Amino acid sequence: MNLNADPIVAIATAPGRGGIGVVRISAPKPLDALAQALVGRTLRARHAHYLPFLDADGTLIDQGIALSFPAPHSYTGEHVLELQGHGGPVVLRRLLARCLEAGKSTGLRLAEPGEFTRRAFLNDRLDLAQAEAVADLIDASSEAAARSAAASMTGAFSQAVNELADRIIHLRMLVEATLDFPEEEIDFLEKYQAGPMLDGIRADLDHLMRNAKQGAILREGLHVVLAGQPNVGKSSLLNALAGFEAAIVTDIAGTTRDRVVQQIALDGVPLHIIDTAGLRDTTDAVERIGIERSWEAIGKADVILHLMDAREPTPELDAQIRQKMPARTPVIAVLNKMDLLDGVPVIEAEAGQQILPISAKRGEGLERLKQALLDIAGWNPSEESPYLARERHLQALNQAHEHLALAAEHAAQNDRVLDLFAEELRLAHVALTSITGEFTSDDLLGVIFSRFCIGK
Ligand code: GDP
Repeated sequence: MNLNADPIVAIATAPGRGGIGVVRISAPKPLDALAQALVGRTLRARHAHYLPFLDADGTLIDQGIALSFPAPHSYTGEHVLELQGHGGPVVLRRLLARCLEAGKSTGLRLAEPGEFTRRAFLNDRLDLAQAEAVADLIDASSEAAARSAAASMTGAFSQAVNELADRIIHLRMLVEATLDFPEEEIDFLEKYQAGPMLDGIRADLDHLMRNAKQGAILREGLHVVLAGQPNVGKSSLLNALAGFEAAIVTDIAGTTRDRVVQQIALDGVPLHIIDTAGLRDTTDAVERIGIERSWEAIGKADVILHLMDAREPTPELDAQIRQKMPARTPVIAVLNKMDLLDGVPVIEAEAGQQILPISAKRGEGLERLKQALLDIAGWNPSEESPYLARERHLQALNQAHEHLALAAEHAAQNDRVLDLFAEELRLAHVALTSITGEFTSDDLLGVIFSRFCIGK
């Protein structure tokens, strides 16, 4: 398999039934012969042709729109042929099989996940951050995340990164020119105002980092686990947060035997809420599996909501549950069913513990709970829309930040360390350009694109 040169084909639309289904082909060489075989004629560039899609013996597979995008004016930058038929799984599979058969002599094969976008990147149609934003837009689980991904896809994040990289290059150029004339070295920093220039770059990088961190929260969201004994109101709280009935609520202990994942968005931050089976000693084998899974979910949570019944406190059992929770994970103790109490809750907070009284049934106390969750997520939005960043981007920004800090130290010493200053600037520049993929290894590309869906 030649990763970058074989003609490739895939069903580009989601599996299942839909109004329209698209089969897409991309190839380094023109696709006229293939179009001739599939739709019986050559196609005008970027014109919608309504045509029959034909099997090898001329029988009809489907009827739809055929589009040809000759290189380089296509998504991948290669020659692309798109067949838009009806969105049924069987008809699309037949069409796909027909394409593979008709293109066999050209080496046409099924595309790997993300292979179309990988080619778009390799052919300079998109930079790496834009390509990643394509996948993030598809995966976005809140409106705010989708908006940020769309902005990154059209290059807003890359532009901000490139602008900083260009300023670093400018500074490097001045330093390197000075290095060629060593007698001027001492004056360099003052002569070119290198100090203030570097300060400006660092301030803008810090701003970009803050924005990207907010974007990373939008992308990842927060995994919230509802834990506690049976009947304390976990499912009721899930429903109250979700605004509709997502889990089965009954008053028979042990109803929630498995985990339920519900996606909601608070302020645009996606929350993945996992309701767990009530934590108690049980002899029921099925329930016990549910409880084991609850602990598994608790182990992976970003934040745990430890629910307790305000009217029927069981401090010893809850202390045991609390003790089994991972120490590094933030826990909010939630005292539910406050509507059944007249006075103050009987449970006292331990040092450093946050206790929030709520009534899942009446929807009381939920605003404070939502705010506490957003605080734990680190959500601190400003006016601007955040850049939807990935962990890889945050690491690169951090590296650039550290190298610029070292450069500033050298500058502050103001002695003959210009070559060290220049080297730190170079490393900061390399870190920034890794975001847009100017210099990227095949391994990293493999990891990034393998997480895409097939057909994108
Ligand atoms: P889970 O087993 O922890 O998921 O608990 P459920 O959500 O199934 O709730 C158990 C019972 O407590 C149900 O009868 C709920 O209606 C009731 N319940 C839950 N939350 C509240 C609340 O805030 N106030 C009152 N009065 N009852 C509640």
